Amino acid sequence: MPFGNTHNTLKMNYSAEQEYPDLSQHNNYMAKVLTPEMYANLRDKETPSGFTLDDVIQTGIDNPGHPFIMTVGCVAGDEETYEVFQELMDPVIEDRHGGYKPSDIHKTDLNFENLQGGDDLDPNYVLSSRVRTGRSIRGFCLPPHCSRGERRAIENLSIESLDILDGELKGKYYALKNMTEEEQQQLIDDHFLFDKPVSPLLLASGMARDWPDGRGIWHNDNKTFLVWVNEEDHLRVISMQKGGNMREVFTRFCTGLTKVSPTVSPVFTSLRSLLCSHLSLPPLCNTCLTSALSIWQIEGLFKERGHEFMWNEHLGYVLTCPSNLGTGLRAGVHVKLPNLSKSDKFGEILTRLRLQKRGTGGVDTAAVGGVFDISNADRLGFSEVELVQMVVDGVNLLVDMEKSLEAGDTIDDMIPEQK
Ligand code: ADP
Ligand code: MG
Repeated sequence: MPFGNTHNTLKMNYSAEQEYPDLSQHNNYMAKVLTPEMYANLRDKETPSGFTLDDVIQTGIDNPGHPFIMTVGCVAGDEETYEVFQELMDPVIEDRHGGYKPSDIHKTDLNFENLQGGDDLDPNYVLSSRVRTGRSIRGFCLPPHCSRGERRAIENLSIESLDILDGELKGKYYALKNMTEEEQQQLIDDHFLFDKPVSPLLLASGMARDWPDGRGIWHNDNKTFLVWVNEEDHLRVISMQKGGNMREVFTRFCTGLTKVSPTVSPVFTSLRSLLCSHLSLPPLCNTCLTSALSIWQIEGLFKERGHEFMWNEHLGYVLTCPSNLGTGLRAGVHVKLPNLSKSDKFGEILTRLRLQKRGTGGVDTAAVGGVFDISNADRLGFSEVELVQMVVDGVNLLVDMEKSLEAGDTIDDMIPEQK
């Protein structure tokens, strides 16, 4: 599918009406929100890096709907997209994230100790557990809009930062272009690597330009902690393992994420020692230190190096797809539910538990043999811990229901309330 991501100024010779896309067959959040008036109002605006409204909505124009999920239909090309095209983005975000208002404040909680239980999802049903999130590096355009040079710079920066990980997390970077076709396919089949850019959603947004240049995967030796570089987001950080110990997966996720975050880069570590000795302070924990650094405005040093993640109080972590804003977190399990999934109440039960289903081959696949990818439906307005908790509690209930149906019992008295 061609996508030029071109800055076409000649289109301004045509009226907004002449340029307005045909959305008559569409079912995505963008198409629900966009009006001819809004289009006319926004079409000549652009972000500082030159991302325009037409770039924002192209993926939603070319993909009227999706067989398995309600798609968003728009993407960000840089951090400023969410501000410049607020008139479109705010209602899309509100609709996609269950009424999240422009004035709402997002919360972050990456303290795994706040999770209740989660270490005993029944491994007879739960085949694997996984938690992922995305992170964007401030100062670079996002994948739909970044240039080859920016993309390669992000790749180099990632390798540099990830190299500091040690112990269980010590690993290596594998560039896509250095892999054989077989190696790549094996990683995809084993669920470790992103799919090839075959999804029309990805293609139409411009994210797959120059593939495989600048793309790759970093992982530790036993492939339980992985970082995708330059797929849909600058970084996708993933913790996963076989079986049902979601607690262990989330613990590794939080530990690894805190370590790869810019606040513990080597620059940071030396600044930490400098600051503490200067102030004659005992060593500070990362949270206190981050606040201390903000107060001392040393944070600016990271900004200069472009080593900061895109984040703000309202949107949380800023990512390419508006559906991933906030935590960017998708905690999920591959779980066997052959009986429950046949029930006509399955969809309603998932909605009430605030969970979503996918096929086990990723977002573009249907479930095979009653095995589903069940994960949290929300990203924004709930903390990381709260979302993982929903998955742990929800999956435990789904497995109990599956067992009841297996034994020939009814699940009528097990249907949950709306969370
Ligand atoms: P994401 O939301 O991380 O982009 P996708 O649905 O695109 O997820 O899937 C990406 C890959 O991750 C696929 O290969 C999928 O099989 C794998 N995956 C997702 N969840 C799990 C899980 N719980 N266990 C094992 N593999 C998983
Ligand atoms: Mg994906």
